Amino acid sequence: MNNLTKKILIALGIGVIVGLVLPTIHQGTFEWLNQYVFDPVGSVFLNMIMMVVVPLVFFSLVVGVSDLGDPKQLGRMGVKTIIFFMVTSVISLTIALAAASVIQPGDPGLLGEDIAEEYEPSEAVPIMDTLVNIIPSNPVASMSEMEMLQIIAFAIFVGIAMAVLGDKVSTVKSFFKQANDIMMQIVTFVMKFAPYGAFALIASALGEAGWAAVGSLASYMLTVAGVLFFHLFVVYGLIVYFLGKMSPLKFFKGFMPAMTMAFSLSSSNGVLPLSMKSAQENLGVSKQVSGFVQPLGATINMDGTGIMQAVATVFIAQVYVVDLSLTDMLIIVLTATLASIGTAGVPGVGMIMLAMVLTSVGLPTDGIALIIGVDRILDMLRTSVNITGDAVLAVIVDRGEKKRGAIDENVTEVS
Ligand code: ASP
Repeated sequence: MNNLTKKILIALGIGVIVGLVLPTIHQGTFEWLNQYVFDPVGSVFLNMIMMVVVPLVFFSLVVGVSDLGDPKQLGRMGVKTIIFFMVTSVISLTIALAAASVIQPGDPGLLGEDIAEEYEPSEAVPIMDTLVNIIPSNPVASMSEMEMLQIIAFAIFVGIAMAVLGDKVSTVKSFFKQANDIMMQIVTFVMKFAPYGAFALIASALGEAGWAAVGSLASYMLTVAGVLFFHLFVVYGLIVYFLGKMSPLKFFKGFMPAMTMAFSLSSSNGVLPLSMKSAQENLGVSKQVSGFVQPLGATINMDGTGIMQAVATVFIAQVYVVDLSLTDMLIIVLTATLASIGTAGVPGVGMIMLAMVLTSVGLPTDGIALIIGVDRILDMLRTSVNITGDAVLAVIVDRGEKKRGAIDENVTEVS
């Protein structure tokens, strides 16, 4: 377990104790501290992560898309990769939405009756409008308004144009890559503040909500964790067996080092060298395939993150006593699938992108404050799922390319 994770877990523990015990001992002291310490510190932390959303999504997606390149094999692998990622996202999101709707982890008591009654859900935008509006007429306005779907669409156009122009725009491409690195570095800075932010948010949320919150957060966490485990071992296990023609036991054993590392790092990007090494050395995936599918997957494929976002959205809707219609569920699947493309593989970004999913169905982003305190633990679990999905696809694509004879076996040897 790395240092930051340890600090956050300790901060969470203290936050839970303070949030639950202090109001019972002395309500006035809690209220004072909440007004001048917990609430402002929590808000600063939230603002800091929100600050990087737009540039991070834009730069990482442009780089991800432009990296696809244009030769034939790359095109074939690109199409397979994107289709697989979309399909597994939809599967994971459907399971997550179904589980959260049945288990109902959200309790309006978390907010207190008043807030739940005061909250007026905004009118949901018709699905056709959402689809048509994906193409922005003014990308700069989209960015200032944080219209994530439009930003993603614009980034895809820029990325494709860059891939087509190739070396002619290499300067701009390295600019985007470096800009992306800078944003990631800011996320790293912000994560240093995470223990304080997590402490403040959980103390504030629990203190305001009381004991009922523990039960509700516990069932939220158990729902997310349960779906993550199911997706990891059952869904991926079946896919590896039927499409990858590999024993799931061999797969999970071989990929375990990367999975455990992902758990402690909470970053798909951070663990990338190890996940590629595990896939190449233990699962026999060629370097060519692993080098394309896994970095791309670490940027655009986040089934675990989608599962958290779907459960969190249903959870927050239940807390705010908002009924989600079938259209809302479809919008959640669409936005969460697109959000996973824009989610960078660094700690905590999935929670930032949750704002986009919530907004798409007219739910208040304030709901994030309720769950962000426990997010770090779930981030560890979901990152393991995220990178495992990339490795599953690497195994499948590798099998296909070898069958076609498109892999130069000499290149596959691990140096
Ligand atoms: N930490 C996750 C990853 O790197 C992203 C997230 O869900 O926050 O895969």
